[in-house]
Amino acid sequence: PTAPQPAAKPGILGRLLGQTAPEARREFDDAMLESLEEVLIAADMGVETALRVAANIAEGRMGRRVTATEIREALAAEVARIMEPVARPMPLYPKRPQVVLVVGVNGSGKTTTIGKLASQFKAAGKSVVIAAGDTFRAAAVEQLQVWGSRAGVPVLTAPEGSDPASLAFDAMGRAQDSGADLLLIDTAGRLQNRADLMEELTKIVRVIRKKDPEAPHNTLLVLDATTGQNALAQVEIFRKLADVSGLVMTKLDGTAKGGVLVALADRFGLPIHAIGVGEQIDDLSPFDPDDFARALVG
Ligand code: GDP
Repeated sequence: PTAPQPAAKPGILGRLLGQTAPEARREFDDAMLESLEEVLIAADMGVETALRVAANIAEGRMGRRVTATEIREALAAEVARIMEPVARPMPLYPKRPQVVLVVGVNGSGKTTTIGKLASQFKAAGKSVVIAAGDTFRAAAVEQLQVWGSRAGVPVLTAPEGSDPASLAFDAMGRAQDSGADLLLIDTAGRLQNRADLMEELTKIVRVIRKKDPEAPHNTLLVLDATTGQNALAQVEIFRKLADVSGLVMTKLDGTAKGGVLVALADRFGLPIHAIGVGEQIDDLSPFDPDDFARALVG
C-alpha cells in the first residue's frame, strides 16, 4: 500500500511518497534514503546538493518510523534554509540613472523580463528608459517596443546590425539628460560565438563607464528554469562574460523542475531577485523561499 505512485502529485515528494497516508508510519531505511536521493536528483537539484540534502533529512531519522508529513516538512525546511540567503530583491541605489544590464541566452525570457521590470518600476513611480541593445535581432527590438508601450516606458533603438555599445552610450546620455531613475539595457544572447559576445558586453560596459564609472550598477542574468541543469552551465559561462550580480529565474509557472534553483543557490549563492511566473506583464514576483520550498516539495 505504500508503493510510490509515479507522478501522483506535482512536487518532489509526490513522486516519493505517492499515495502514502500523511500520518502512516514507515521506517526510514537505506531504501528510503536512496529513493529520496533519486527524486531530488530527478527534480534537478544536482547530484551534490541532492545527496547532501537527503543526508541532512536522514540524520537522526535512520531506523526510526517516520510519517510522510514529517519528511515533507523536513525537506521544505531544508530547501527554504538553502534558499533564504539568496532571496533578495534587486538593490536600488539613489544613483540616477541606476543602470541595469540584462544578460542571458536567447529564449531565456530577457525581453519579457525587461518589460515586466519596466512596468513594475514605473508603477512604483520611477522613470525608466529601455535600451534595445540586441541590435542584431529585429524581432527582439520589436518585442521590446511592444513591452515598452504597454509599460509606458520609452525604448531606445538603433538600426539593425549597428553597434550595441554606441546605442548604450547614447541611451546613457538620454537617461542622464532626462533624469531617469533607471536604465534597463537589453543585450544579445548568442552563445554560438562567445568571443564576440564577450567583446560586445565588455564594450558596452566600457562606454557606459565613460558616463558613470560605477555603471552598470546591476548585471542581471536571466535564466529559464525549465532548462534544468543547463542553467548551471549558463551561470558559469555568463560569469566569465560579465560581472553578474543577480539572477531572474523565468518560467517557474511551467515547471516541476524548479529544483535547479536549489542547485544554483547552493553552488553560486547569487541573489535571486525575481521569478517569472507567466507571460503577462504582471507575472514577475519577488522570490519567496518558503513559498518556493513548499511548492517544490509538493
Ligand atoms: P529572450 O529571447 O531571452 O528575449 O526571451 P523572450 O522574452 O522573448 O521570451 C521567450 C519566450 O518565453 C516567450 O514566448 C515568452 O512569452 C516566454 N516567457 C518569458 N518569461 C516567461 C515566464 O516567466 N513564464 C512563461 N510561462 N513564459 C515566459
